[in-house]
Amino acid sequence: MKKFFCKNCKEISYSSSPQYTQTEKDCPYCHSSDLLDISDDIRIGRLLVMMGFIDKTALEASLEKQMVLKKRIGEILKINQLITETQLSSALELQSRFVN
Ligand SMILES: [Zn+2]
Repeated sequence: MKKFFCKNCKEISYSSSPQYTQTEKDCPYCHSSDLLDISDDIRIGRLLVMMGFIDKTALEASLEKQMVLKKRIGEILKINQLITETQLSSALELQSRFVN
């Protein structure tokens, strides 16, 4: 089953959900076409990029630091002041919704 994350209204829709029209690739909630196909094991870093809090370059640089520091990526981003506690919490909250 495919899952989609709407960048516009931040809602998650499923390809099998009744409100999702198979023919149209738009958000069933706000009809935005800004949808992202998301996997089940969505990483927090990817979410932060999706939510527009950090860019890919910042994430990649932080992932490299993570290998050395052995800390959570969210912690590293916070230490480097790339994201705020609030941004991290909202990303973690969103991530928890992906877990079945
Ligand atoms: Zn939407």
